[in-house]
Amino acid sequence: MALDTLDYSVMVGLALAVLAYFGKEYIWPLDDGTSAGFVASAPGGGTSRSIVETLKSTKKNVVVFYGTQTGTAEDYASKLSKELASNFGLKTMTADVADYDFEDFDKISSDALCFFLMATYGEGEPTDNAIDFVNYLDNEADTLSNLRFSVFGLGNSTYEFYNAIGKKVDQKLEELGAERFAEYSQGDDGLGTMDEDFLAWKDAVFESLENNLGFERKEAHYEPSLKLVENASLTKDDPSVSQGEPSKAYVKSASIEGPYDHQNPYISKITKTRELFNSSTRSCVHAEFDLSASNMKYSTGDHLAIWPSNCDENVLKFLKAFGLEKKLDTVFDLKVLDSTARTHFHTPITYGAVIRHHLEISGPISRQFLSSIAGFAPTEEAKETAKNWGSNKGSFAKEIHEKSFNIADALLHISGGEPWTDVPFEFLIELIGHLQPRYYSISSSSASEKQLIHITAVVENEKKGDVLVSGVVTNLLKHIEIDQNKTKEKPFVHYDLDGPRGKFSKHKLPVHVRRSTFKLPNSPSVPVILIGPGTGIAPFRGFVRERVTQKKNQDVKIGKTLVYYGCRNENEDFLYKEEWPQYAQVLGDSFEMHTAFSRKDPNAKLYVQHKVAENGKEINRLLEQEKAYIYVCGDALKMARDVQKALTKVIAEERGVSEERAAELIRSLKTQNRYQEDVW
Ligand code: FAD
Repeated sequence: MALDTLDYSVMVGLALAVLAYFGKEYIWPLDDGTSAGFVASAPGGGTSRSIVETLKSTKKNVVVFYGTQTGTAEDYASKLSKELASNFGLKTMTADVADYDFEDFDKISSDALCFFLMATYGEGEPTDNAIDFVNYLDNEADTLSNLRFSVFGLGNSTYEFYNAIGKKVDQKLEELGAERFAEYSQGDDGLGTMDEDFLAWKDAVFESLENNLGFERKEAHYEPSLKLVENASLTKDDPSVSQGEPSKAYVKSASIEGPYDHQNPYISKITKTRELFNSSTRSCVHAEFDLSASNMKYSTGDHLAIWPSNCDENVLKFLKAFGLEKKLDTVFDLKVLDSTARTHFHTPITYGAVIRHHLEISGPISRQFLSSIAGFAPTEEAKETAKNWGSNKGSFAKEIHEKSFNIADALLHISGGEPWTDVPFEFLIELIGHLQPRYYSISSSSASEKQLIHITAVVENEKKGDVLVSGVVTNLLKHIEIDQNKTKEKPFVHYDLDGPRGKFSKHKLPVHVRRSTFKLPNSPSVPVILIGPGTGIAPFRGFVRERVTQKKNQDVKIGKTLVYYGCRNENEDFLYKEEWPQYAQVLGDSFEMHTAFSRKDPNAKLYVQHKVAENGKEINRLLEQEKAYIYVCGDALKMARDVQKALTKVIAEERGVSEERAAELIRSLKTQNRYQEDVW
């Protein structure tokens, strides 16, 4: 997604606000009221856009740059930075690649080490914050012969251009004369092996530091970058104290001016929710967000980011795991010990607000985290167990991962219920990822619903023994749906629906819109083939509603709209079943829907790719003769690959070419934007 002028002006504004405050001892507050304030740091904690100056003034010798879209690369960068400091005594910092002038990169001292953790986004694109850096490497950089580097790519093998950016950065740095001190490696979100891939790369990096570069490894020791200072003079109700508001501006006010974006969400009213289906194992919520009181805009095919908070059950368990029950409402400030430290929330704040609103406490604990926290275990036995499981992939998988333990579950299991009271809260703030917004393909059309955004979310939950495994946002939406419609259903887990200072009460949540490249062709007369099983149908409901509106309002010629939809059973989980015949009525013959119900015949599971294969002739005709566009949305792990295989076969058979040639044709459709994927 390219940043528009508005985004740039917000970024510049933010940078100025942050720069103005650099040098203050405490990370927050900013008192000018202008800050959007989720990421509370100046570039590298310094005043300069020069990385050379920053390294010098902060006396650092390692910089871990990251290119991130959803926060994973940033999270790994923080962890790597901490571990390099604790294992080798290196002076490390993390840095957003967008925060520095690249012209300076060649002047970085050859004594310094540079890491690049680069995520690939969409169809082989750089993340928003890495666009300029990749452009610089591609077009402007002359030489980087001073730079010593190692790159880790974060990608998803379901996509055609898997880890394209990680590979490109690694290759370009080499071509520009930089010296690679540890081999490139990459992680695969598609296979769900990202954590282990990252750990394997990190181990190789550590080996290279020891064996090739002569750094001495020591007993790991946590060095805090922040110091927590409790503030007994403030209560949680003091107007300056954050109760978990999404940004500083919201601490002062219930509503704030836009523009709204990934640092500055809009607290939107959810005017309507309904249950689309509820079977014995799954349910699905439709929710409508009202933008009318904001200046927010979206266009059909965009994503809505929903800012979550954790459920009561997980907050309570976390408090118990660290013996923090009595500190729930205690207020603290953070003092910066390392000027390059970053945090993601406003202070003063309460322990409870950090845990509920800012830390990713519900998801699975990582092996790396277990290994880092082992030293703080309450007993020698627990310490040994945590060390062993943290360093052994097999034991970790069996004892922790397969049981779906989150941080609190795992630690209480290891210690036999004894709280881990020696863990500094600063450690938790620094090493637990911050709670990230979740994205949803918008299922309305900006042509028919200008001021409403619809989303369609499958609720993720499962009970494993005593452990409640639940998705953060989807269960929050489900709780809202139950509360709003006053149904008799019991939520799987419970949330504080009122939010900080009641700011989310009467069903509101912080959101922002992420522009997407998943768009209908400009001309409505171009045929489209929409393949989206399950919630993959969400953006296609938006696409079809767009065409219906165009037909009704402008009576333009609408090209063929061929929809392939799959679910388990026609009468169980067929999303928006009652709406499709209405769309067909307006669009007439130009609309066709093909359905695959996988559980209808237990002996022959039918999926969308089978329907695609059945309709090969028509699909090929539309592609070849009418220059149709294909769109695939939904499950990244299997469906998107299976559909692509089916389409490759169709093209090969119908055109009498080899499958290799057909695969090439599909690649070419992708580069022309005529084959678009929105998969997760
Ligand atoms: P999370 O909290 O993120 O958890 C993720 C999964 O991990 C869940 O299945 C959860 O049950 C499981 N889990 C939680 N704790 C543990 C544990 N301790 N151990 C093991 N597993 C655990 N989804 C839709 O439903 N509809 C859409 O239209 C849609 N569009 C998307 C568009 C994009 C571009 C992207 C990137 C994603 C989209 N998604 C969509 C997926 C969505 O963003 C969320 O990932 C999904 O809803 C789950 O979010 P959650 O917060 O409920 O779960």
